[in-house]
Amino acid sequence: MKKLFCLFTLLLSFCIIHRTGAQNISKKPLQTLIIDPGHGGLDPGAIGTKASEANVSLQVSLKLGDTIAKAYPDLKIIYTRTTDVLPGPVQNKDAALKYRANLANQSGGDLFIAVHCNSAGKHPGGWYERRVVGKTPVVKTYKKGKKTYTKTTYQYQYENVFVENKAKGTETYIWAVSKNDDKINSVSKNNEYMGEIDSTSTLTLPDPSDPAEKARMLIYAQNYFRKSLNLADMVQEEFKSVGRIDRGVKQRNDKGIWVLQATAMPSILIEIGFISNKEEEEYITSEEGQAEIVKNIFTAFKNYKERLENKTKENKDAEKEKEKEKEKEKEAEKEKEKAKDKEPKKGF
Ligand SMILES: [Zn+2]
Repeated sequence: MKKLFCLFTLLLSFCIIHRTGAQNISKKPLQTLIIDPGHGGLDPGAIGTKASEANVSLQVSLKLGDTIAKAYPDLKIIYTRTTDVLPGPVQNKDAALKYRANLANQSGGDLFIAVHCNSAGKHPGGWYERRVVGKTPVVKTYKKGKKTYTKTTYQYQYENVFVENKAKGTETYIWAVSKNDDKINSVSKNNEYMGEIDSTSTLTLPDPSDPAEKARMLIYAQNYFRKSLNLADMVQEEFKSVGRIDRGVKQRNDKGIWVLQATAMPSILIEIGFISNKEEEEYITSEEGQAEIVKNIFTAFKNYKERLENKTKENKDAEKEKEKEKEKEKEAEKEKEKAKDKEPKKGF
């Protein structure tokens, strides 16, 4: 009977050890990835000469998800949309943004990647402008009293000149923790393009005077900001490595990237190229271009994931070391106590 009991206890403890082991394995820092193709359906986003931002973002997002799923079959990937609709599907852009954030949060996402295309506004591809190409002097004489005066005026020659929509390159956005952050790239200074600004939005930006909003901003600053920045940096590095123009990692806190702060996880928004630039539109819509973009984002994701896992492992190892030290100290204490007990007692 005693033997049986021992065997049972042994079996039970084995099961417990085994289970905790399995739990440790499943407790990876990155288990759920949210991929958010920008815009969709009623909201086509920026329009190029032949493609829409919503469609290009969706194509690249799905390809990115496929590549990541093949490399990490255990990773859970959730798309905010997989077809040309506003996610939800809901009836307006703001509701769609809220849906994206809620879905990410309710799914317990560990990382949020939004894919968008940039636009410099104006006419995609380029536009014609009337420009002065020459002037001919016209001399007129006139009399005032007895004096004769001459006056020179000019006749201008105009021509319609094609102006290319030149802005190009990639940039990755993260949510700026503070509005007073001097790293924030002021969009108004750069009137060359409009980015993701959406003046029609009714979304309210987080209000730092509201304690709940402030708490959320603090959590973002402490837990997610650094990670978002690291990943954004890695993405831009990969784009740069294949010769894309690197417009950098940008920190903003406006309505266009509202969704980044509404997700309780590290989050980035990648502008994969300018759909308003004819050459770049060609690239971001081509099979080869999309494959290269996906490869770049995937490599950055892989590096980010590995770095995160190594850090977690390092932390765990450090914790184990600490525990070992504690055990040793306890042992030493016990030894001391024992030695004390052995000491001949005085005073008796
Ligand atoms: Zn967009």
